[in-house]
Amino acid sequence: MKPSQRLFIKSALNQGAKLRLDADQAHYLINVLRMPVGSEILVFNGKDGEWSAELVSVSKRGGELFCLKQTRAQDIVPELWLAFAPVKGDRVDYIVEKATELGACVIIPIITERTIVRKVNHERLLARCIEAAEQCGRLSVPEVFPPLPLSAFYDQREDDALILFADEAGDNMTIAQSLGEAKPPIVILLTGPEGGFTPLEREKLRGCEHVRPVSLGPRILRADTATFAGLALVQSVWGDWT
Ligand code: SAM
Repeated sequence: MKPSQRLFIKSALNQGAKLRLDADQAHYLINVLRMPVGSEILVFNGKDGEWSAELVSVSKRGGELFCLKQTRAQDIVPELWLAFAPVKGDRVDYIVEKATELGACVIIPIITERTIVRKVNHERLLARCIEAAEQCGRLSVPEVFPPLPLSAFYDQREDDALILFADEAGDNMTIAQSLGEAKPPIVILLTGPEGGFTPLEREKLRGCEHVRPVSLGPRILRADTATFAGLALVQSVWGDWT
C-alpha cells in the first residue's frame, strides 16, 4: 500500500539515493508521525517527482532515508503568482498556506502606501508553504520572495505576465472576463492591505498596460479573503483546475 505521509526533501531523488534528514525532520518523523525504522514515506523535492523512501535510521540529531521508487512524475504547475499586501497577525501565515494549497508558484509580499505590516518572517512563511505542500499533495513548494515596494513590483514586472489588480473601487471586469480572451503564460493576482490602495496607486496601476483591474464581487472582502477568492477564480478559468 502506498504510504500516505509526505516530506519535502532538498536533495536529489533517484533509485537508491541516501537522503539525510535534519533534526527538525527527524523530530517530525519520530514524535509527530511516530514512524518506526523500516516504515516508508513519500518524498518530493520540486524537481524529481515523488518517490517512496524507507526510514533506515533516525535519532534526535537526524536520520536517513533510502529512496526506493518513483511514485509520481514531476508535474509543472501553472505560473500563478500571488502578490499581496501583508496583513496583521498570523493571517499572513494563513495566506501563504492557502496560496500553496490553491496552487500559487510564486508568493510576493507587496508593500503599499497603506500596508501596516512592512516586515515578514521569510523563514516562517517558507516553512508554512512546505507544510502545506506536504499536506495537499503538491510536488513543489512556492517560491517566497522578500517584501517588495509596489513601485518596484510593477517596474520589475515579468514581460509576459498579466497582473490582475483586485480593485474594490469602480466597476471592473470579473476574473473570468479578463482571462476570457487572453491566455497569458504568467498570471499575477495583486491584492491590497486592510486600508486598500491609495487613489494614486490605483491610478498608476490602472495606467499600466499589463494590468487588468478586476472585481471580486459586490462586497468588500477582507484582505486575506481576497487572496483566496482571487486565486480560486483564476484557477477555475485559467490554471490547473480546468
Ligand atoms: N478599500 C477597502 C474598504 O473600503 O474597506 C479596504 C481594502 S480590502 C479590505 C483589501 C483588498 O482586498 C483590496 O485592496 C482589494 O485588493 C481586495 N478586495 C476586497 N474586496 C474586493 C472586491 N469586491 N473586488 C476587488 N478587490 C477586492
